[in-house]
Amino acid sequence: MNNCLFCKITNGEAPSYKVYEDEDILAFLDINPVNIGHTLVIPKKHYENLYETPNEVLGKLISTVKKLSINIKEKLNADGINIMMNNDSSAGQVIFHTHIHIVPRFREDRFKHWKGEPYKEREAEETIEKIKNQ
Ligand code: 5GP
Ligand code: ZN
Repeated sequence: MNNCLFCKITNGEAPSYKVYEDEDILAFLDINPVNIGHTLVIPKKHYENLYETPNEVLGKLISTVKKLSINIKEKLNADGINIMMNNDSSAGQVIFHTHIHIVPRFREDRFKHWKGEPYKEREAEETIEKIKNQ
């Protein structure tokens, strides 16, 4: 935890452009923004990822994400907002301190969403047997 970059940003050991701060939550500009205004929202306390973060903290985190998203969209004249959260390195998580990305989107930014493909035969039935009602 001592070596965690986002803990260092939280306690002031590393610099950041702060967007918002309260007792439990901090939001700051991503250093390599996908679009201008790309903001990271984190709990000040260290948790590694979604699975480790208590529900109460997640509640505060997502309501802050909502509030900041509305403000960022309005102030930057964005056309939309993507919310992202990467959990585990296979999913692209690089910093192992829970964080949610707010990415302002503009009609002409030309980013594409992931391409989906229909299920193959029996795949949906087999999958639903594994994951339903959890
Ligand atoms: P992840 O891939 O873990 O979901 O996202 C980590 C994010 O942290 C990346 O978008 C990356 O640009 C951002 N980041 C990495 N190092 C720093 C830093 O030193 N300061 C800030 N503000 N953002 C950082
Ligand atoms: Zn941390």
